[in-house]
Amino acid sequence: LDPETFAAESHAVVDFLDGYYRNIQSYPVRPDAELGRLRTLLPDAAPEDGEPVDVVLEDVRRHIVPGLMHWQSPSFFAYYPMNASTAGFAGEMLSAGLNVVPFAWAASPAATELEAVVVDWMAKLVGLPERFLFSGGGGGVLQGSTCEAVVCTLVAARDRALIMLGGHEGILRLVVYASDQSHSTFQKGARIVGIPPANFRVIQTSAASSYGLTADSVRRAVDADVASGLVPLYLCATVGTTGLGAVDPLRELGEVARRYDMWLHVDAAHAGSSLICREFQDCLDGAELADSVSMNPHKWFLTNMECCCLWVASPAALTSALSSNPEYLNNISTENAAAMDMVDYKDWQIALSRPFRAMKLWVVLRRYGAVAMRAYIRRHIDMARWFELELEADERFEVVVPRRFSLVAFRLRPRHEGDDVEALNRRLLMAINSSTGRAFLTHFVVDNKFIIRLAVGGAMTEMQHVRAGWVLVQEKAKEVGATPGR
Ligand code: PLP
Repeated sequence: LDPETFAAESHAVVDFLDGYYRNIQSYPVRPDAELGRLRTLLPDAAPEDGEPVDVVLEDVRRHIVPGLMHWQSPSFFAYYPMNASTAGFAGEMLSAGLNVVPFAWAASPAATELEAVVVDWMAKLVGLPERFLFSGGGGGVLQGSTCEAVVCTLVAARDRALIMLGGHEGILRLVVYASDQSHSTFQKGARIVGIPPANFRVIQTSAASSYGLTADSVRRAVDADVASGLVPLYLCATVGTTGLGAVDPLRELGEVARRYDMWLHVDAAHAGSSLICREFQDCLDGAELADSVSMNPHKWFLTNMECCCLWVASPAALTSALSSNPEYLNNISTENAAAMDMVDYKDWQIALSRPFRAMKLWVVLRRYGAVAMRAYIRRHIDMARWFELELEADERFEVVVPRRFSLVAFRLRPRHEGDDVEALNRRLLMAINSSTGRAFLTHFVVDNKFIIRLAVGGAMTEMQHVRAGWVLVQEKAKEVGATPGR
């Protein structure tokens, strides 16, 4: 690494990205991409000799950017937006530039300690109970994604249960519970850790509980399993489901989980960011009954990909399931560190090597501070509220579930008896997304209803973009045959 080249080429990349962000609104949000096109534009093999960075950047501009979905576009309202920021990028640059590997305290003392500090800061900001802080006997780790975090908690829960059951054969009796609104990662995770697929229970929710789980429905499912000799292992509760933003009642579910000695995980991947605002803290009522909680700063907390906070009440449950101590990682300082009760993050996750994610989140927290972060979250929620009010005032549309965070789930109502309203809504979403690339939205299906989702959450999204989104939705509604209301 030659410092002169490093500086020149890094500046060239920053200049390139500066241009990208200045022009981002001129790109269609969704690319007009043709399957396999990029392969026809690139050579068949890697070059034998290196090429100058400006040649590489020119290819990025000509070949890569036109085929990208512009996730950072202010008119990206699909899935859950993953917001980038200046501080998130600065933190990522520092992390990538220093390129240390904090798998153990001895391998990177300050990076490990910063991670422990930053997860405690985040736990306090979102209002987690003391038991998830290092000072309260728990602790946190920064993982790459909720999916990885969930697998780690499932492994911890599984091993804890197998010890109680007295052997590995017990795995065939373990049952995992989730709702029909839980993220698919729980089913995948259960499969990965060896839970028989037939022992994954999907509990139905309904409009009556705003698509949240009820304690009764969980109790019924668990009782039936216990009666047939199965062992309840793990219950997933969500604060802000992916499809609709539904919230499960943690206290009631926690009581059920405690009664049956199940591990309770709280997945707040997206909505977790909003918990820094006191008006959302009621969603955490009962969180002290949970065993683990996760949320993704890379979704809605101005932290560039990737960054997921996982907190556990009992680090020992996690580390006894995940620790490995090969000779080649042993050294005097590791032994000292163990004696000092220091964290070796390799034992809190799947991989050994890991990036310095704490730097990124720490820079975000330091640069913006809690006050600006709360304002940022509330700004998005206000924009979503405005969009919801517009929908409610237009009789052609219905809001499918009351909005809680920054996600609005809506659809066109049938105009006449016998209308194929599902096809109508599919046509509407296609028309919104296909014509001009002015915005990008995605859908969900609940109770066999096709629903359009507008998720506000881009770092560059302002009121003008949400207004333009509403104009687009109205325009396309007319085009697909929904006559103007009001
Ligand atoms: N859980 C919820 C509620 C989500 O909305 C998502 C993604 O949108 C996930 C989990 C998966 O998160 P990740 O991509 O970090 O694994």
